[in-house]
Amino acid sequence: MLQRAATLLKKHFGYHSFKTGQEQIISSLLQGQDTMGIMPTGGGKSICYQIPALMSGTTLVISPLISLMKDQVEALCSLGIPAAFINSSLNHQELLTVLKGAGRGMYKIIYAAPERLENEQFIAMANNLGITLLAVDEAHCVSQWGHDFRPAYLMISPFIKKLAQRPVIAAFTATATPGVTRDIVNQLALDKPNVVITEIDRANLFFTVINGENKRGFVDRYLAENKDKPGIIYGATRKEVNKLHAYLQQKGFNAGKYHAGMTAPERDLNQERFIYDDIRVMVATNAFGMGIDKSNVRYVIHYHMPKNMEAYYQEAGRAGRDDEPAECILLFSPQDVQIQRYLIENSVPSAERRDSEYKKLQYIVNYCHTSRCLRGEILQYFGQKNSPKKCDNCSNCNNTGEFIDITVEAQKILSCAWRMKEQFGVTMLAGVLKGSKNKKLLHYGLNRLSSHGLLHNYTLKEIQHLVKVLIAEKYLCLTEERYPIVKLLPGAAPVLKGEQRVFHRKRVKKRKEVANQPLFEQLRQLRRQIAQKERVPPYVVFPDSTLREMCEQLPTDTSALLTIKGVGETRLKNYGQLFLEVLRSYAGKK
Ligand code: ADP
Repeated sequence: MLQRAATLLKKHFGYHSFKTGQEQIISSLLQGQDTMGIMPTGGGKSICYQIPALMSGTTLVISPLISLMKDQVEALCSLGIPAAFINSSLNHQELLTVLKGAGRGMYKIIYAAPERLENEQFIAMANNLGITLLAVDEAHCVSQWGHDFRPAYLMISPFIKKLAQRPVIAAFTATATPGVTRDIVNQLALDKPNVVITEIDRANLFFTVINGENKRGFVDRYLAENKDKPGIIYGATRKEVNKLHAYLQQKGFNAGKYHAGMTAPERDLNQERFIYDDIRVMVATNAFGMGIDKSNVRYVIHYHMPKNMEAYYQEAGRAGRDDEPAECILLFSPQDVQIQRYLIENSVPSAERRDSEYKKLQYIVNYCHTSRCLRGEILQYFGQKNSPKKCDNCSNCNNTGEFIDITVEAQKILSCAWRMKEQFGVTMLAGVLKGSKNKKLLHYGLNRLSSHGLLHNYTLKEIQHLVKVLIAEKYLCLTEERYPIVKLLPGAAPVLKGEQRVFHRKRVKKRKEVANQPLFEQLRQLRRQIAQKERVPPYVVFPDSTLREMCEQLPTDTSALLTIKGVGETRLKNYGQLFLEVLRSYAGKK
């Protein structure tokens, strides 16, 4: 059976081998076993159900976003796999056409929004068709403890019970902590599932945190240096997105925007223009991107710190889905924490969930202050054992900046926290060290402490930053509540006793360049022409990685072209000759 799966992988998708985890998941599903796949964004989840779909009856895919379905169906059809989607974007006539086609067994794969699962007509259709495989995409949406809870996902389990024949169930997500994984298994009532967790590391992503730099200035410089590359800049609020977008436009950058305050046609148009490479940089809130399968995004900049690691890794993970090098840059400023605290206070009703959100928030704040390996910190969060101490592919590991000895400052801060009886927050602690005489401080008599004014040579901001560094490095911690209190951790003792020194690394930016060959540009131009003619996104024609491999291998006949990753039979038939012409003429000139 797996042999057949491998043949289909080459025939339809043009890939020679499975990515990590795909074979295991496909084989488990083909054996009729419920299966949960936890794979990073870009890990290749879709193929895990698309190949079994080709080998069995009809597959139903539950997917949270309309844009995702449209993209996936377009891509499948272009690969010669009959597929359709059912959601609210169809008018009545279109819906009837799809239902009729489905009734005649025309489609191998049908995508549907979870809201459909309540609809009697839909249930009747599903029963008629005899769904053999039900795939749940973005399965974390079923969990209240996940980061994107969608109540409609709770309809999946009752829907399955209404089917005359229970299909095999596959659930997929990119980001699930162990607790969320358990919740997904329960909520979807998976039957003794095989849980396949592939390494969630994305080796091609370069992670950077920039703390305390002028954000606009940074974006300005970065975009000027990366004008031709597609990228996304995430902002925390609609207002910030509008502001930054207007600024970038005025600076002459080819920028679009996307947020929930815009009309649906405006959003769709901008999204489409970005996907078709008409817009280079998209400035957006987190409303943008879920399920947008644009594989050649070369950078994702977070203009503000997001609410937690799940959100960050998912959004950042939209860079480099083609496995080519890409950058994920987080621009941190202390106000970001205030925004997130405000959002938690005002949007999370239960006290229990609020605590859990504060805890998650603190983890990402620490991420923004640590000198440790950023990749290691991310992977550790998601429960990966043996997460790296040094990856050599993040701004901390590649930092050539000097280590500075902050032992004396650390001792002053730690002893001050101790003298303040661990009863105050970061602002008060920094205030005492600065020697401030504000009302609140005087009220508590904190000006009488021997630590008062010990760091008067530093600015308040610098002291606060040092405190946060000590939190990130686990000498101190914050309690998980609205107004968190600074507490000492066991790691503080050896520093206070003078047995251990504390170092912090000054940051120096470093950037990697990817070589761009003239042939690559020619192929890209051809791809763009084809894409425009066929009204499909460029990466549906071929992803960047395929063009790059063409540049390296220089195939000049069809059999050589077929060996390139991403060239399957359908694409070869449709586009092969056109690309060969460019490749041959290039080879001839050389
Ligand atoms: P996910 O849904 O996990 O984020 P996708 O299913 O969209 O990821 O796949 C990400 C990219 O990887 C797509 O461009 C897809 O075509 C490609 N891909 C999937 N499987 C393979 C494979 N076996 N070999 C090479 N590329 C693959």
